[in-house]
Amino acid sequence: MSHAAASFDYAVVGGGSAGSAVARRLVEDTGATVLVLEGGGPVVPAPSLHDPARWVENIGSAFDYGYRYEPHPATHDRPHLLSRGKVLGGSGAVNALLWTRGHRADYDAWAGAGHTGWDFESVLPLFRRSEDWEDGESRLRGAGGPVRVERAKDLHPVASALIEAGMSLGMPYLDDVSPEEPEGVGPTTMNVRDGRRVNPWDAYMGPVLHEERLTVLTGATARELVLTGGRCLGVRYALGGKPAEARADSAVILSAGAIDTPGLLLRSGIGPAADLARAGVGVHTDLPGVGENLQEHPLLAGLCLEPAMELPAPNNNLEGSVAFWRSDPGVDRPDLMFVAMQVPYVSAEIAARCAVPPDGFCIVPGLSRPRSRGRLWLDCDGEVRVQPNMLEVEADATALLRGVDIGLDLASRPGFRRIAGRQVVPEPGATRSEKVAFLRDAAMPYLHPVGTCAMGPVVDAQLRVHGVEGLRIADASVMPEIVSTYPHATTVMIGEFAGALLAAG
Ligand SMILES: Cc1cc2nc3c(=O)[nH]c(=O)nc-3n(C[C@H](O)[C@H](O)[C@H](O)COP(=O)(O)OP(=O)(O)OC[C@H]3O[C@@H](n4cnc5c(N)ncnc54)[C@H](O)[C@@H]3O)c2cc1C
Repeated sequence: MSHAAASFDYAVVGGGSAGSAVARRLVEDTGATVLVLEGGGPVVPAPSLHDPARWVENIGSAFDYGYRYEPHPATHDRPHLLSRGKVLGGSGAVNALLWTRGHRADYDAWAGAGHTGWDFESVLPLFRRSEDWEDGESRLRGAGGPVRVERAKDLHPVASALIEAGMSLGMPYLDDVSPEEPEGVGPTTMNVRDGRRVNPWDAYMGPVLHEERLTVLTGATARELVLTGGRCLGVRYALGGKPAEARADSAVILSAGAIDTPGLLLRSGIGPAADLARAGVGVHTDLPGVGENLQEHPLLAGLCLEPAMELPAPNNNLEGSVAFWRSDPGVDRPDLMFVAMQVPYVSAEIAARCAVPPDGFCIVPGLSRPRSRGRLWLDCDGEVRVQPNMLEVEADATALLRGVDIGLDLASRPGFRRIAGRQVVPEPGATRSEKVAFLRDAAMPYLHPVGTCAMGPVVDAQLRVHGVEGLRIADASVMPEIVSTYPHATTVMIGEFAGALLAAG
């Protein structure tokens, strides 16, 4: 892994969740030379990166870019952190480890919008290729792939309570929470092996790191693309504070994630002309979709309960079970997801006004099919600004409010009643308007931004950037519509998709 050549066949920008999969397939399935530029550092033995129960410590740490969402009145103008992993493995190195596939209708809707090859049956083999499922191969699950996937083990009483309460409410038990049409409750599935995180970089790239055709540079931040006419020739980057340039004869693949990939395009003059002009950047390609269509899952932190007894120390990913459920029987598939956090996970605003017990735990409803759309742009200092517009569309607030009611129903059922004492927040007997205030004070981002370089306006179904040859995107930014589940497994699948395309030539 030396930095001998400045010219490669492929340059992959970002060694995160999707970038790891793209780079592995390029190295393994082509004879090409491959450069991976990673802005973060190598994976180090820090417990927060490896112990699933310590993932929260990554937020705001040296492994986090520490971006922020702009305030919005729909969430009472409260500041929200926008964590993004800054280390090999990217956000997949720091996240909460839930590894779930979306509803088949999520992918069929992408294909239905004209993105050929992205329907459920077409992408299923890529999901299967990515994973090593603990129960072995089946129609829906893969075995022998890079990412070990296991159910949460030794369920904590809070995790079991969600399953018991959910079933008493009528939710089917899901032995595997990623069937074709997820609806019900069951143990969380996670990218773990022997109780430790499986980082996508280690999983994908570990077996090929010795390859001489591969060059990996950490602490290497791409600053702008090298563009000439209608073609991308390479990347300018900073390594140890010094400027450098790499050429990519076949293609540059942007895998810097849903915030930094559009940021890099905008800094390179690819984006909406008016936005570029406001930021003082010369226009290379007027591409209106860059930075638009941002989608994020809002969650509520949280419906907090005081334990009625001493509970064991938190385990698994601080959750351990998950439910997918409909806010209304009239919606065509689940639009809510629930976890129960084994810790008192409440927003700063809730914590400031309620006496939250340090040993409390929370039911956390989340909105999995938001209609609100945000955007990002460059300010005149060249910094990326991100406005998610969470809960701006009233239907989102209505659905999540229904999540509060379902959460309170769950809290009142035997599973939780056995272990819970006082309901801390929302206050028992809260009126509808008090619940709405709770909603806007407790809403936080799940940290799942997607869609900012979407298939359609920005890339085609082969992930080629419109109007610029030799430039593709493979990361969460290409999702035209957010999946109604945790997005990590889908993002890795997007990396597999790109890898398969490039290997096919
Ligand atoms: C705290 C947290 C918890 C989450 N929990 C879950 C969960 O439990 N389940 C789930 O499904 N999803 C979860 N997510 C979301 C999920 O991890 C992401 O959707 C997914 O990892 C995004 O993958 P990506 O490849 O698009 O980007 P990333 O994995 O973020 O990769 C981008 C990579 O590019 C690098 N990079 C960025 N800019 C540059 C640049 N200019 N030059 C060079 N390199 C650059 C970054 O350092 C990073 O390595 C969570 C996210 C966070 C932050």
